[in-house]
Amino acid sequence: MKAAILVRAPFVSAIRVDVRWRRPSKVAAMNYRRLGRSGLKLGELSLGSWVTYGNQVDAAIARECMAAARDAGANFFDNAETYAKGAAESIMGEALRKLAWRRESYVVSTKFFWGIHDGPNERNTLNRKYLLEAIDGSLARLGLEHVDIVFCHRADPETPIEETVQALDDIIRAGKALYWGTSEWGAGEIAAAWEIAERHHLHKPVVEQPQYNLFHRERVEREYARLYVDYGIGTTTWSPLASGVLSGKYAGGVPAGSRATLKGYEWLSERITDPQRVARVCALEPVARELGCTLAQLAIAWCVRNPNVSTVITGASRPAQVVENMKALEVVPKLTPDVVARIDSIAGAPP
Ligand code: NDP
Repeated sequence: MKAAILVRAPFVSAIRVDVRWRRPSKVAAMNYRRLGRSGLKLGELSLGSWVTYGNQVDAAIARECMAAARDAGANFFDNAETYAKGAAESIMGEALRKLAWRRESYVVSTKFFWGIHDGPNERNTLNRKYLLEAIDGSLARLGLEHVDIVFCHRADPETPIEETVQALDDIIRAGKALYWGTSEWGAGEIAAAWEIAERHHLHKPVVEQPQYNLFHRERVEREYARLYVDYGIGTTTWSPLASGVLSGKYAGGVPAGSRATLKGYEWLSERITDPQRVARVCALEPVARELGCTLAQLAIAWCVRNPNVSTVITGASRPAQVVENMKALEVVPKLTPDVVARIDSIAGAPP
């Protein structure tokens, strides 16, 4: 039987990934994908800290979740300055200190745009002053000398893209970050940033961080299509479970302690509990049963299956969820074209 599958690389040529070799454990081996055209390799699954760290998860639980992800082979941990107003970075920093992993063995990101203070140059901006000052705050909270990836968390129409690109290049040249990218920028804005960097011999954006899940796929599958080929942009995608609804746990109402119950996240709760979405998730249940997996694993595996996704950033409020979600890797080879067509017909057709 041929076990090698052809994966379209985000840039230039196809990469042959041999799936025959498996780590001798019950969990499928993590493959490491290049982050777009860059040489940085990230596990297909990674772990993030939005909503959870600082709201639901303290440093002890964060440590357990990160350790469970690392045990499964994950090497990338995502964060942002704005998450719990800096507390998520402090919690991850404390967890990393206790875990005492070699710095070279993991990848950490942070993101800037919204800010954590109210001044005119401290919120909703990507101006030079904010970026060059914000990085120092994040490094102090994380207890790191550098982050591996800095993301511009949203586009800023009030700062010239040239100013932002120059500031990111300066952060990298100062050794405070190694790579930079964008999050939820329009394809045209990403192309403009790349072209500016090319023209001025500055560090180019190598990655975009978009939402991608069974209910939200237009940007990754259509809008960004040329970016993978023309600019070698990789993707670190977010909310593979659409904040938990794709796990199926909202079918019987809102479970206690879940994200949908959190104060301040009422806007998100409305989306999570949307009856049409919940009904579509229930309709996916027989497919998951036939594949011998949970709905969460099915939804995460579906994201991994897209070769233009460099890593799927998972989220979890407890270690057991991490363990379950990492096993989604076992489901990826079961997603044959027929199975994917069935999933699409239930969740929504490709854009
Ligand atoms: P998901 O859509 O996967 O949602 C994660 C949440 O779903 C968990 O916190 C948990 O919530 C629930 N859950 C997870 N696994 C299971 C399971 N097996 N069974 C039942 N429930 C489960 O991801 P996130 O929305 O958390 O996004 C992932 C990461 O992406 C973030 O942490 C962040 O790093 C990044 N992100 C980036 C954004 C950006 O703008 N760049 C925006 C949003 C996220 P509960 O407490 O309810 O159990």
